[in-house]
Amino acid sequence: MKKQFKITVLPGDGIGPEIMESAIEVLKVISKKYNITFEFQEGLIGGAAIDETGEPLPDETLKKAKESDAVLLAAVGGEKWDNLPTDKRPEKGLLKIRKELDLFANIRPGKAYTALLDASPLKENLIKGVDLMVIRELTGGIYFGEPRGIEERGGEKVGFNTMIYYEHEIARIARLAFELSRNRRKKVTSVDKANVLEVSAVWREVVNRVHADFQDVELEHMYVDNAAMQLVRRPKDFDIIVTGNLFGDILSDEAGALTGSLGMLPSASIGERYALYEPVHGSAPDIAGQGIANPIAMILSAAMMLEITCKLPEAARDIENAIEKVLEEGYRTGDIWSPKTKKVGTKEMTEQIIKHIL
Ligand code: NAD
Repeated sequence: MKKQFKITVLPGDGIGPEIMESAIEVLKVISKKYNITFEFQEGLIGGAAIDETGEPLPDETLKKAKESDAVLLAAVGGEKWDNLPTDKRPEKGLLKIRKELDLFANIRPGKAYTALLDASPLKENLIKGVDLMVIRELTGGIYFGEPRGIEERGGEKVGFNTMIYYEHEIARIARLAFELSRNRRKKVTSVDKANVLEVSAVWREVVNRVHADFQDVELEHMYVDNAAMQLVRRPKDFDIIVTGNLFGDILSDEAGALTGSLGMLPSASIGERYALYEPVHGSAPDIAGQGIANPIAMILSAAMMLEITCKLPEAARDIENAIEKVLEEGYRTGDIWSPKTKKVGTKEMTEQIIKHIL
């Protein structure tokens, strides 16, 4: 088993450096507990990179990322860079690194923490026990399909896009979904619109074919309109949802909203060779530099790295359990605070989590 990992660390802007510090501290503790070594190398991205090099993703950062086992990214962006031309803005650095690393799958877990059930827009009996994961295809589908454009037809303007999937694009994401399900409840829901779209008919056929290698995993197919409804009616029944780019874009936000705060949502983007882990939220410039940001989404992103890249699911579970306990003990950063709980800053929240990992 691999014991040494080179990690490129990209703190970015706003609260990025503060929450990244928390994730690194947690990883150092895990490193001791499991006797593995992390070699961290820091790089510039986003506004911080623009200030220093004029580019949102300098070549040097990309080179470091490509030489490492995984990339940990915090967040980019802020008012200071909002007026730059689109291709020079911090967010361009994000899009470019995802593209350059050919990250074809985006993974977003949605877990309801018992202590935070009241933060969900759903009734407690619906949300309690929810633990699901949306795997969205990220580099194909309608967002990239050709032909696309806007033109004149019959004297009026039309806009058009193409929803297209090649078999290999479907097969690799289906395989990832089935593989990840083996660490979970062994249930995959593949979401499409096969009653209307040919692209979905191919999607379904390929998912079924890949499933033949994973007979221990339960597979169900669901139309996207039904999936959107069932996600709010009976979210507990889902384990892994795998779907294309457009449907995944929508369903992953819906799933994220079920469980409450943005400060709690991690993500992973996976390719054939590279993997990048980052919180779902942005750089939160409104609270940057105050030491009050919620580090949990960033720490959970590091936990996903431990599970997927480092193949250490037990270390990931340690972190998740520690977070659950800290929340049960009533510790809260401002974004998830409610009366009768203890308000803490980024550092204290991190220390409390570490206490439970040791
Ligand atoms: P945001 O996610 O940064 O913030 C939205 C709200 O949630 C803010 O009130 C913020 O204080 C709060 N929040 C977010 N994360 C938090 C945390 N960890 N702890 C406590 N509170 C938290 O979204 P926004 O305000 O729309 O965007 C701010 C900047 O971030 C913009 O420049 C935007 O382009 C950028 N952005 C970056 C990413 C990314 O890096 N992946 C994603 C979204 C937005």
